[in-house]
Amino acid sequence: MSGERTPIVSGNWKMNNNHFEAIQCVQKLAYLLQKEDFEAVEVTVHPPFTDLRSIQTLIDADQLRLKLGAQNCHAEEKGAFTGEVSPAFLAKLGVQYVIVGHSERRELFGETDEFVARKIVAVQRLGMNPIVCVGETLAEREAGVTLDKVRGQVQVALAKRTSEQVKSLVIAYEPIWAIGTGKNATASDAQEVVAAIREEVASVVSRPAAQAVRIQYGGSVKAGTAAEFMRQPDIDGLLVGGASLDPTEFARIVQYRRHAY
Ligand code: PEP
Repeated sequence: MSGERTPIVSGNWKMNNNHFEAIQCVQKLAYLLQKEDFEAVEVTVHPPFTDLRSIQTLIDADQLRLKLGAQNCHAEEKGAFTGEVSPAFLAKLGVQYVIVGHSERRELFGETDEFVARKIVAVQRLGMNPIVCVGETLAEREAGVTLDKVRGQVQVALAKRTSEQVKSLVIAYEPIWAIGTGKNATASDAQEVVAAIREEVASVVSRPAAQAVRIQYGGSVKAGTAAEFMRQPDIDGLLVGGASLDPTEFARIVQYRRHAY
């Protein structure tokens, strides 16, 4: 990672932890993380929607330095969208980061690149930061089209964004075959794709935006592998699924510097 960009480590809990379990998990995480961890790394937690109010209350009451995130939202602020959650409701709850275009949303719920782009606009309009996920399937990797896939996703996602808007968002490179499978991309493979994503941002948006935008790696990251990814020059953070459910493991990932060797 580059010294100019603040590292960001995010825990995506997916559909795990009810609001009681969520409180316990965040309390334990807050106990394990020290002031210097928060000075070095921005830490976001993304519980299910039904937990957000409880975690917001806990963060406020205990003045925790963890940042509240959501896993998804709709592109519209209100209307006839039964079962959906408005980005305006998330903003009202103090949510600061919203994951958009996670591969599970794209694959299981049919979200297109265009719909993801609309969500990015909505999230930023409400003053929150999108974490925009991109990544290739195993078949695409084997066919040698990984870079074409992620470049295309970046182009559509950022087409309507200004340089300033892109500087404040986060991109997560998540090879789909590595999510929840225990398989990692190697750190050098991830670096190569992340560098290509940064180049794409430079050509679609601007060079200053490419230099400022933070790019995470995600896919079966564990405490033992975090430091290796974070040593790569273009990887600025980690999006962590399974391992973020265990506060001890997640804290060790946030503290990747201390557990580097
Ligand atoms: C994710 O959910 O974005 C993710 C990377 O999951 P895991 O760490 O479990 O692979």
